[in-house]
Amino acid sequence: MPDTTIRHSLKWKLWCMALVAALCTAILAGTTLYRSVDGFLQARHNARDIRQFTTVFEAANLISAERGPANALMSADEAQRPRARAWLEQLRRQTDDHLHRLELGAFPPELLAAVHARLDAGRRAVDRVAAQAAGARRDDDIQAAIEAMFAAWDSYFGLIQWQATELMRRDQELTAPLFKTMMLGNLREYAGRLGSYLIAPLAAGEPIPLRNRIEGQITRGRLLELWALLRPSAEALPLDAEFRQLRQQAEIRYFGDGLGLVDRLLAEAPAAGGYSLDAVRFTDRYVATMQPLEALRERLLALTVREFEQREHRALQALATLGLTTLLSLCLLAGLVLAVQRRLFGPLLRAADAVVTLADGAPALPHPRPGEAGEVRRLYHAMAMVSERLMERGRLTRELEQLALTDGLTGLLNRRALDELGERAAASPRRQDCPHLILLDIDHFKSINDGHGHPAGDQVLRELAELMRAQLRQDDHLGRYGGEEFAVLIEGYRLSEAALLARRLRRAIRHHRVRLGGEQTLSISASIGVAGGPGLGWEQIVRRADEALYRAKAEGRDRVRIYRRPPAGEQPSS
Ligand code: GH3
Ligand code: MG
Ligand code: MG
Repeated sequence: MPDTTIRHSLKWKLWCMALVAALCTAILAGTTLYRSVDGFLQARHNARDIRQFTTVFEAANLISAERGPANALMSADEAQRPRARAWLEQLRRQTDDHLHRLELGAFPPELLAAVHARLDAGRRAVDRVAAQAAGARRDDDIQAAIEAMFAAWDSYFGLIQWQATELMRRDQELTAPLFKTMMLGNLREYAGRLGSYLIAPLAAGEPIPLRNRIEGQITRGRLLELWALLRPSAEALPLDAEFRQLRQQAEIRYFGDGLGLVDRLLAEAPAAGGYSLDAVRFTDRYVATMQPLEALRERLLALTVREFEQREHRALQALATLGLTTLLSLCLLAGLVLAVQRRLFGPLLRAADAVVTLADGAPALPHPRPGEAGEVRRLYHAMAMVSERLMERGRLTRELEQLALTDGLTGLLNRRALDELGERAAASPRRQDCPHLILLDIDHFKSINDGHGHPAGDQVLRELAELMRAQLRQDDHLGRYGGEEFAVLIEGYRLSEAALLARRLRRAIRHHRVRLGGEQTLSISASIGVAGGPGLGWEQIVRRADEALYRAKAEGRDRVRIYRRPPAGEQPSS
């Protein structure tokens, strides 16, 4: 595989892995982040909703509170009237301001219209009674005006219920705080109503009508029930000293003093001069006992708002932490990928390149760089060792190859090498490769061995090799073909040229003197057979050259014989 392919494939794999890891992290982080953002937005909505609900509820409280001065005004004598009127006007302004400030656009218009209609009707009824002289007011009219104001509150409470339903539908987490707030609001309202049932008889100095007594009892029962219901949820609230204190105060002041005052007046039969308290004083004292109920409601709302704001804050913190953690994880991942690339993958790529060069036999081994992993250094080291061994093995192989093709005594090609070259040349279609073989055998060599010893024979063989080498061209192949038999493989010659060369060799051998030590010299001769030409197989050429050599020997030695193709039907001649 070419090195660029390995490089690309490895790089591609690394970046794919990095991409998959980044994608997994992003998906994981994305889902968690999405939930966290959702949680934060929900918390923020809830905090905003509960704050808005608080302001909406505030108006109910103001409508409720309007009844105090309204009752006082309707039962006031001339002297008490200005103060009661001023108090009422002030509260009406507060109610109107508050209603005006409220964003009531979201409410169903029919509910809003009903609130305004009922409130106007109630106020008109109060004003009609208040406009009459103190003695001329009928308790039925007072009672009707009071009930008209009840109706205004009821209608506004309808608005509150509508909003509470909307908010609870959006998030059920809001259910408990909204319920508690509404219960405390109702508590304050019914406390006010209980007092209001006494106002008309007190103002008129009349006995309390049965209807008022019954309504009063029902309202009283509701109050106690609401208070009992609120107790456990109030205790379950987070420990808040002020809330607990207010609850105790409500217990003492309203459920003790306020209800006590109502009970006392209910028990009183009006004397000739009226009740022990007139309506205005009763209103003053009774409204004061309701104060802790109102404070309790406000505190509960404040605590609830605080709780939701804290949740919003916590959700924001969680979101920020998660965002940072995600960012950090992605940075770490990027760092990891870069480190892996720099410390492991990069070096591995270079190692892969080096392995390829190693396989090509031209090793370019990488050098360790600072920051690369220890394993990579060990890998480089191992590669260096492998490279060294490969080089050594290559050298030995070349040596062995050389030995396998060389004759040990003369350093010439051996028969195997010469046959390989001859076969290759004979098989070549190129004309210039056409081979000829000059086969040469030393005459009576055995007698040299016998007469002068084997080492002398060896010397003759070596000298003859050198002598012949000197007679040949660079491209001619000279080999030792057997014991005292030599062969010259020539390519690109014609047969006549090969014969010329053979004769030149024979002459050179004939004229050569081998010095055997001292003055002793030895002359030698050789018989030579020549064969070759186009279209012949190597074996054929060898056979023919051998045949020609045999003829040279047979015809007296020290001569050259050429194998010639015999005319058709005749024996070959040399
Ligand atoms: P002919 O003229 O017929 O070729 O006679 P010859 O004696 O040359 O031929 P023969 O085949 O009878 O003898 C060849 C001798 O060459 C026999 C052998 O001992 C000797 N010989 C073969 N190889 C070597 C070698 O490497 N060194 C030496 N010194 N002698 C060798
Ligand atoms: Mg021989
Ligand atoms: Mg011989």
